[in-house]
Amino acid sequence: MSQLRFKVVDEAFNRKADPVEIPTERPEKYYGKYVFNRQKMFEYLPAKTFSVLINAIDNKEPLPREVADSVAEGMMRWAIDNGARHYSHWFQPLTETTAEKHDAFIDHDGKGGVIENFNGKMLVQQEPDASSFPNGGIRNTFEARGYSAWDISSPAFILDNTLCIPTIFISYTGESLDYKTPLLRALNSVDKAATAVARLFDDKVNHVKSYLGWEQEYFLVDESLYSARPDLMLTGRTLMGHESAKNQQLEDHYFGAIPSRVEAFMLDLEIECHKLGIPAKTRHNEVAPNQFELAPIFEETNLANDHNLLLMTIIAEVARRHHFRVLLHEKPFAGINGSGKHNNWSLGTDTGVLLFAPGKTKKDNLQFITFVVNVMAAVYRYNGLLKASIMSATNAHRLGANEAPPAIISIFTGSQLAEILTRIENSTNDELADLTNKEGLNLNVSQIPEIMLDTTDRNRTSPFAFTGNRFEFRAVGSSANCACSMIALNAVVAEQLIDFKQKIDSRLSAGESLNHALLEEIRALIKLSAPIHFDGNGYSDEWREEAQQRGLDCETSTPVIFDAYLDPNSVKMFEATGVFSKKELEARNEVKWEMYTKKIQIEARVLGDLAINHIIPVATRYQSILLDNVFKIKALFPAEKSEEIAAPDLVTIEKISDHMRIIKTEVAKMVDARRTANRIENERDKAIAYHDNVVPCMSVIRYHIDKLELMVDNEMWPLPKYRELLFIR
Ligand code: ADP
Ligand code: MG
Repeated sequence: MSQLRFKVVDEAFNRKADPVEIPTERPEKYYGKYVFNRQKMFEYLPAKTFSVLINAIDNKEPLPREVADSVAEGMMRWAIDNGARHYSHWFQPLTETTAEKHDAFIDHDGKGGVIENFNGKMLVQQEPDASSFPNGGIRNTFEARGYSAWDISSPAFILDNTLCIPTIFISYTGESLDYKTPLLRALNSVDKAATAVARLFDDKVNHVKSYLGWEQEYFLVDESLYSARPDLMLTGRTLMGHESAKNQQLEDHYFGAIPSRVEAFMLDLEIECHKLGIPAKTRHNEVAPNQFELAPIFEETNLANDHNLLLMTIIAEVARRHHFRVLLHEKPFAGINGSGKHNNWSLGTDTGVLLFAPGKTKKDNLQFITFVVNVMAAVYRYNGLLKASIMSATNAHRLGANEAPPAIISIFTGSQLAEILTRIENSTNDELADLTNKEGLNLNVSQIPEIMLDTTDRNRTSPFAFTGNRFEFRAVGSSANCACSMIALNAVVAEQLIDFKQKIDSRLSAGESLNHALLEEIRALIKLSAPIHFDGNGYSDEWREEAQQRGLDCETSTPVIFDAYLDPNSVKMFEATGVFSKKELEARNEVKWEMYTKKIQIEARVLGDLAINHIIPVATRYQSILLDNVFKIKALFPAEKSEEIAAPDLVTIEKISDHMRIIKTEVAKMVDARRTANRIENERDKAIAYHDNVVPCMSVIRYHIDKLELMVDNEMWPLPKYRELLFIR
């Protein structure tokens, strides 16, 4: 039994770093090699086609059909030149992975042979027979058609000899069935709303882009160890396992030296990223053992998100090449840090101004403050919705644990920005006195031009932090599609900015000066959003209490948290910004609840199986060895002496019995709870039943298995232990 464990541990322990094929050229030569970027477009498309396409991309205009044919022709030639044989529409169904359906370029040539063909129709639109994607009831089987349509703002790329075309995925009746469609709508909406506000400061602004720089955290586990853990294989996390004596308490892992096997993997991954045009830049060890991070240079949000999804695909492939398995789960191991995906987010104008960065002039800074307070107000008003946007069955394990943001959304501003906001709030007129503070930081917006913010002022416990020129949404889970949080964030900010602009406009038409109008509205927003501002320790219990008093959303049950999407204010906001219709919101929540249920259901099944078929038999066997020993002691020694000698074994025997009894009872209870929950029709109620009745059994079962792990003979224990999973490189 345990021979398998020792064999895989041995294999893992002795594994050497795999060789990496390092390109002989410098990165600028192979960067974007597999991307149909502007340079390739210029090379492969007729001049006229190129200019129409670029215009369509830059100005969000539709692409005429004849031009699409010409684009397809050039794109195919480029793809074939780079070894592609197939093409695929690449889209983002509501499963949090991407989907591809590959078609070969070949077509009949009319003479019994084939030619390679790819035209505008195939490029622009397809009808994936995809009735088995989650759709929350939007798509009845008699209308099972879904359309995928090319998103020209994200370039096509080649992955595994297949030309992949980023597409949106919608139903026959036009409802979104994916993440990209609403993301593009939200980005459009925030573009319009933010442009209108930015034009108060500079009428040369025509567009505002949303930027995203994600930081992807992940764990690596040796493939042999992984294959000996059915829970990791089937659920992405360990459902049992006693804490290792050493884990992260020495804090020797964060930014520590990267082990050579991992370094080889990272280099390989980086090269793959660069070939696919993903600007991977930063790599380092994370806090937990065997935990790492990769971060690219930030990009426009839609492209950045495509790149993150692509990364999640290739990281798994590259890990396999190095005999690792990558764990993108938010909490693969209990007791040590989980993984997040910080979403660094900002808005920037087409005139080159980052709107959350302080500037040099007083006008710049009034604009900076304007945008910052609007974000704060939007996050305050929709804190429950933003929490829903990052919530999932898997992220629930991470949030609220003592190492991740709590399940309460608040904003960290840092002391300098906080001070500026307080001064503005307390000032009463626009002719503010000169208020220079000790560092020469001038806090009077109407008088003093320069604000320099200290970006080292950080707070790691905050779920949403201002970090100098951007906000960092840290509560996002490592396995999530970033679009989910980016849709909500950009949409709520868009609505807030629309509202702000209207208020300014009516003040202006009442004859107020722009400065006065802005400062008055800014003061109102600072007051309004005060409850969301929290710079203290988000892990503390006091914060939970205080947040409750402040009226922030403190719900902790994942299925109930999803209700925020259907709150009348959310529905109104999503409809007003054109991001979701009510029907879409309802359908998506059905999917969220269904996903939640399925994830817990799978975990519960795996745990039940492991408990009854792996752990109980081993514990029983060990117990009977002890029993045998007691009998032999009793046979050999005089009664009194034998009692004394056998006493410790008897205690262990009893303890093992207790644990086994509880495990069996709880497994039976869990199976029952599942059965009852499965009979519930309503998806929300079913998810709640899983949360309330199934999940608690799982914790009890785990607790008792972990106790057994400490008692049973190490040689007999069937599953690789935490100390083996986490410390072998
Ligand atoms: P840290 O771990 O200290 O937060 P990292 O360097 O790991 O910092 O990640 C910072 C991320 O933020 C990078 O992806 C970076 O490109 C991104 N970023 C920097 N400035 C902006 C910005 N204005 N908008 C969006 N993302 C940004
Ligand atoms: Mg960060």
